[in-house]
Amino acid sequence: MYRVDSTIAEEFISHEHILQSMDDAREAAQNMDVVRQIVDKAALGGGLSHLEAATLLECSDGEMLERIFKIAGEIRDRIYGNRIVMFAPLYLSNHCINSCTYCTFHTNNKQINRRKLSQEQIKQEVVALADMGHKRLALELGEHPLHAPLEYLLESIKTIYSTHHKNGAIRRVNVNIAATTVENYERLRDAGIGTYILFQETYNKECYKKFHPRGPKSDYAYHTEAMDRAMAGGIDDVGLGVLFGLGAYLYDFIGLLMHAEHLEASYGVGPHTVSIPRICAGDDIELSEFGEAIDDATFKKIVAILRITLPYTGMIISTREPQKMRGELLKLGITQLSGGSKTSVGGYTMQTPEHETPTEDTEQFEINDTRTLEEITSWLLDNNHIPSFCTACYRRGRTGEEFMSMVKDGKIVKCCAANAVTTLKEYLIDYASLETKLKGFRMIESEVLKLDDKVRELTKSNLVRVEKGERDLTI
Ligand code: SF4
Ligand code: SF4
Repeated sequence: MYRVDSTIAEEFISHEHILQSMDDAREAAQNMDVVRQIVDKAALGGGLSHLEAATLLECSDGEMLERIFKIAGEIRDRIYGNRIVMFAPLYLSNHCINSCTYCTFHTNNKQINRRKLSQEQIKQEVVALADMGHKRLALELGEHPLHAPLEYLLESIKTIYSTHHKNGAIRRVNVNIAATTVENYERLRDAGIGTYILFQETYNKECYKKFHPRGPKSDYAYHTEAMDRAMAGGIDDVGLGVLFGLGAYLYDFIGLLMHAEHLEASYGVGPHTVSIPRICAGDDIELSEFGEAIDDATFKKIVAILRITLPYTGMIISTREPQKMRGELLKLGITQLSGGSKTSVGGYTMQTPEHETPTEDTEQFEINDTRTLEEITSWLLDNNHIPSFCTACYRRGRTGEEFMSMVKDGKIVKCCAANAVTTLKEYLIDYASLETKLKGFRMIESEVLKLDDKVRELTKSNLVRVEKGERDLTI
């Protein structure tokens, strides 16, 4: 049974339906007329069904793939423009009672130092992140009712929002925590979080069991239904993701899209973001143990097809990927990048205590793009992207359905462009080197000219106010 509007995991993620879709996609991919029709439909920018997307993923025609890549970039530019939103992860605690076999923080790993930041340490981390120029964070912590209960997270969010340093502050906190209850989601909403992010890891139940042998996360249904509870708790921006490499990629690709279809059908809002991580090495993690790890070519294809299938969804690539791959994926429709990231607890500031080995020992995964935020910003400018530190929608209450209707009407691109140049100017004045400043100011000048009259006037006025020292101006 496949019931897209059901809140029961096994109905909106039906194993049989996924298997059937895999077969159907393989067959349809042999017919180039069908493939061509799907690509033509994608070019219109209204998205695709999971079956159409899977058909493209199964197609190996090189020319068609080139066309898909081109459309993916065009769709991102049409809907969001050339801005790339920057963020950083902040790891609060690596205590965890789960046993996810692909994660360094799993409960049986005795090789890492377990840490939980105090509120004072969180302040220091926030100051360090603000001093880089960050305005948007993704909070990460393991699941541990004693060491990291919800109260700890709520207090930490308060600490983060109330920490100001020079001109810097964190304006939006997205949260990536374990599946929880409706009541707890309500408390997170009341704490003013941005997007609630939870990766499914894999949609294949058998495979899920294998990689999550023990702990609360091993409950497939509870985990898979988390976004429904989050919505019931009033969180209307949710972020999905699978960890490609755990299960067969076609299966998880279809599962992810079914989940997105379910959210759209049930709540009128698809996922706000989709993150696209793939399995990589880490302390205590051997890549060779993951037989389904995907190569670069497949990964790029997945990203491009996700872009044209979910045109209204933000797409995130972390520092798991190296610079070269991040550069290639940018052309395929990525809209958000992390930069200057540390995946260890206290990684931005903490000196290693004498009794511990270096902080890197607490990394959740290996970082393959180790550039500073300034280096990434400069690189984006060189590649004709506006590095954006915008958090405007969240601050103006443009979330959930309201946000999605603006995206679908093609209105958000104007806000994105205007806020991107304004926040870039803040960044350049407050944090950038002279070389980056010069490049950035040139970019701002040319981008402002592209805005339509009304938005251009508002933006110009905001840019002048930023020059005079005002901050946090939004359109
Ligand atoms: Fe814990 Fe999350 Fe790592 Fe699983 S993935 S071990 S829940 S921190
Ligand atoms: Fe994101 Fe909204 Fe800012 Fe655009 S205007 S970058 S969608 S917060």
